[in-house]
Amino acid sequence: MAETSKRHCPRCETTRAFVRTARTTMELGTKVKWRCPECGFSVVNIEPGHSIEAPA
Ligand SMILES: [Zn+2]
Repeated sequence: MAETSKRHCPRCETTRAFVRTARTTMELGTKVKWRCPECGFSVVNIEPGHSIEAPA
């Protein structure tokens, strides 16, 4: 079940389909880690409240 999200990668300097590599539920919300499949650049995103994933 691979989930991806289109994000701008500062290393590739273009938009990539980032792959979700980790998900941690916290009090503030859900911490999600995304990784660029091209260069390996990773970014952590906090999704507050409900874990509804809306397109950016
Ligand atoms: Zn990249």
